Amino acid sequence: MKTNLKQLSKQELLLFMEQAGQRKFRTDQIIRWIYDKLATSFDEMTDLSSAFREELQNIAVISSLTLLQRQVSKDGTQKFLFELEDGQTIESVLMPNSKGEGRFTLCISSQVGCAVGCKFCMTGRLGLKRNLKAYEIADQVISVKRFIVQQPSGESTKSGGDKPEITNIVFMGMGEPFNNFNEVSRALSKLTDLMGFSKRKITVSTAGILPGIQKLAESKPLVNLAVSLNATTDEGRNRIMPINKKYPLKDLIRACRDFPLPPRRRITFEYVMLAGINDSDEDAGRLVKLLAGIKSKINLIPYNQLNNSGELRTPSEDRVLAFQNILKKAGMTALIRKSKGADISAACGQLKAAYK
Ligand code: SAH
Ligand code: SF4
Repeated sequence: MKTNLKQLSKQELLLFMEQAGQRKFRTDQIIRWIYDKLATSFDEMTDLSSAFREELQNIAVISSLTLLQRQVSKDGTQKFLFELEDGQTIESVLMPNSKGEGRFTLCISSQVGCAVGCKFCMTGRLGLKRNLKAYEIADQVISVKRFIVQQPSGESTKSGGDKPEITNIVFMGMGEPFNNFNEVSRALSKLTDLMGFSKRKITVSTAGILPGIQKLAESKPLVNLAVSLNATTDEGRNRIMPINKKYPLKDLIRACRDFPLPPRRRITFEYVMLAGINDSDEDAGRLVKLLAGIKSKINLIPYNQLNNSGELRTPSEDRVLAFQNILKKAGMTALIRKSKGADISAACGQLKAAYK
């Protein structure tokens, strides 16, 4: 079987090329072609001899995702629907940064579907179809990058001047990254070693899979951690996040306290606000106590209503502001994150990769 070069780490690629009788500078050339110039075939690699390209064709492939659909929201958010080799589909969401035109944060998926089953999340309703391979995770970044740099200026970048750039990567798309730890970890190495992203610009978000938090703490690159907290009592959290029965709040918070934060870094806590469930003043007070002493920032995300939401409702704006105020008064950093791209179902919790 031919080797997919995109699945290999830098070390593995060096070894592969060595075994093919090639010197190191050849590997560097190939890395540049795949990860900087975003080549999808050996034919494009014009500075390699045709004999070498032919040899590569026989032993290796460069995989790529198939873009099925792209939707653009009123607020500039773009959602990309990709097809994988086996016909499964995933979504990635590109959001313009608040500062800097033509600069974007890309939200990527780590699994097709998700097994965690949080009550408020559309991806959870799909169940888990399968884990993504590291190359499928990294390929979302490569494909979107390829797409935006090829856009005529004016479409992706309002200024039309500088080249559009993905500055931050967040693992907040479909799936629970820590239920696919090995491939996510390989993808993280790829993003930093081969694609030049700083570990400070990458964030992995988890529903609270404790072994994953502990493994991330020990692994390199040490990227940013985000935890979807969403409740302040076990009773409340059990109701909306069944995973809490396995990894209860006390243990989750302890793992966060133990997380080895490098200087000037913080843990992000996401808190989906649900009317009458987790949005009371008492909840805010408990949240302050729960996170006391943890270098953190809190993202309050007003619930994005899904179809058949049952008892789940979005709180009023006043309630969200009052909740935020209590946190702020206690000296915490708490931002209200209005989800972007709701009109194209690209907002938090809405990803289901359905082809319309
Ligand atoms: N599985 C990981 C990564 C996905 S991140 C995790 O859960 O952290 C998706 C984020 O969107 C999570 O913080 C989740 O709490 C939030 N979310 C899910 N459904 C939502 C909804 N309907 N409205 C607002 N936020 C939602
Ligand atoms: Fe899975 Fe995260 Fe959605 Fe929960 S919120 S079902 S963990 S993707």
